[in-house]
Amino acid sequence: MKKTALSLSLAAIFTLAGCAQTTTHSEPQQATSVTSQQPSDVAFAAFSEQFIEQYWQQYPELSVYFGYGKFDDVITIPDAAHRSAEQAFLDAQLAKLQSFDLTQLSDHLKIDYHLIENTLKRAKWELETFKSWQWNPSNYNVSYGFASILNSRFKSEDDKLRQVFKRLKFVPDYYHAAKANIDQPTLEYTQLGIQQNKGAFSVLTDDLLTRLDALSTFSAEEKAAFKQRFANAKTAIHGYIDFLTALEQELQKSGNARSFRIGEALYEDKFAFDIQSGYTAKQMYQKALADKARVTAEMLTLTDQLWPKYFPETARPDDDTQAIATLIKHLSQRHVEKSQFVNEIKRQIPELERFVMEKDLLTLDPEKPLVVRQTPDYMQGFALASISAPGPYEKKENTYYNVEPLDGLTDAQANSMLREYNHWILQILNIHEAVPGHYTQLVYSNTSPSLVKSIFGNGAMIEGWAVYTERMMLEEGYGNFEPEMWLMYYKWNLRVICNTILDYGIQVKGISKEQGLDLLMNGAFQEQAEAEGKWRRATLSQVQLTSYYSGFREIYDLREEQKKQLGKDFDLKAFHEEFLSYGSAPVKYIRQLMN
Ligand code: ZN
Repeated sequence: MKKTALSLSLAAIFTLAGCAQTTTHSEPQQATSVTSQQPSDVAFAAFSEQFIEQYWQQYPELSVYFGYGKFDDVITIPDAAHRSAEQAFLDAQLAKLQSFDLTQLSDHLKIDYHLIENTLKRAKWELETFKSWQWNPSNYNVSYGFASILNSRFKSEDDKLRQVFKRLKFVPDYYHAAKANIDQPTLEYTQLGIQQNKGAFSVLTDDLLTRLDALSTFSAEEKAAFKQRFANAKTAIHGYIDFLTALEQELQKSGNARSFRIGEALYEDKFAFDIQSGYTAKQMYQKALADKARVTAEMLTLTDQLWPKYFPETARPDDDTQAIATLIKHLSQRHVEKSQFVNEIKRQIPELERFVMEKDLLTLDPEKPLVVRQTPDYMQGFALASISAPGPYEKKENTYYNVEPLDGLTDAQANSMLREYNHWILQILNIHEAVPGHYTQLVYSNTSPSLVKSIFGNGAMIEGWAVYTERMMLEEGYGNFEPEMWLMYYKWNLRVICNTILDYGIQVKGISKEQGLDLLMNGAFQEQAEAEGKWRRATLSQVQLTSYYSGFREIYDLREEQKKQLGKDFDLKAFHEEFLSYGSAPVKYIRQLMN
């Protein structure tokens, strides 16, 4: 599931820059799109609908995130009784699901079937095998739910505070259960748990009490009770932070912390559930190694070609890496002014649309324009650029391309950002985020509305599509085959490739921090700060970093296969449109349906 860290530092944000898709809200959709009236489809649609309803009941915190609305006042107590109930829920739903004959379902519902099955099996695996509820203290944090409710643009002040009032009641029991669950955690997750729970106090601030006092809809008794619960909740959060702080010291002294590396067996399991790839993690790692060698060779050729143009008086360094890095650094000085950053993005979107139409790469829907805007204050600080798409529930909204203004940065920080998102990379970012990347994919996925796909959709396909379009646009001549554009693209693409190598390297092959930083800095031309940030992220997640490359590789491979199979009958636009018509589904299932 998607989860946004509350307490990311500004530095961390900019290393993440690029890819945060956030959901807002839209009209309820039917649970599954019934394309035919086959009895099995009708029965499956009914099953999906009850499944989702019960799923939210089982996971109210997730339902808040998706804007479902019915369970906003509940916090689940993560104790043993709750885990038994969860197990029973998963087994029962899995049995119901498996009573359907997959072969009798229409294509779209086949994918829904797979997505539900994967969700249930993954939850069972987490509960019984992976057990991060024991060793990841940052799993426990009440801030997300409170923040979602308080940031909602669809609730009245009274509604917000009433829901906060109800939720506060659960906080002491919640942290009591959390403490009981923790067993030999990793040091890194213990530290993250401390840091993020401290962040809770930026959500549960005394400002809430001032807002409460201003409300006439709460009685004096209710206000007093609210304040009592508020104080108890803060004590409970402090208690959890103290508990983790003591644990951290103990782990550091004894050296008994669990390793943050999950090892090959768990990694393969997690890769299978989270990416739902047609390849194993090991195969994907090997593909990434081969791509890294190929891309590096291409960069070297381009560097040799461009060197005399930019450095006519200077001999190219003997060291290849140094030569490529020098040229990239030089080219990166070409960028927009700090004050023009948002405007330049606004200007580029229609150009990208024009290119897609002229080259007939995809049909774009002129009725659904993308609104480029400065990231609203309440969302700032997470990612340089993101797409806010209408989610599965609530009112129909525009789709926004949020861009963080650089105004708040010092000139030195802003210049560093602008060099990173220079003349060429900024165009690639816009392809990725907007047209024909994330935004276009979203428009297509909304034309085959399936609640199952919008809730349980495949992240690797979504990110993979955006990464695929970067290359596809350049192949079709965007940027006029300028060698500078290709060089910068390869640098950008190398980052995605190296994320896969780094993640597998750390989690499975046990590479050291030194080796990891060397891979990113000398192998992928990254700055030290970015590389350090990536190392940290790779110790605090597993598999997620591979999703961009995995999705990209599978889509590209599928396209090349189709080209071979169809020969001169292959049509790029038809391929894109059919591929996107299945919604945010794992590429391996789209492949089955397209072949
Ligand atoms: Zn992305």
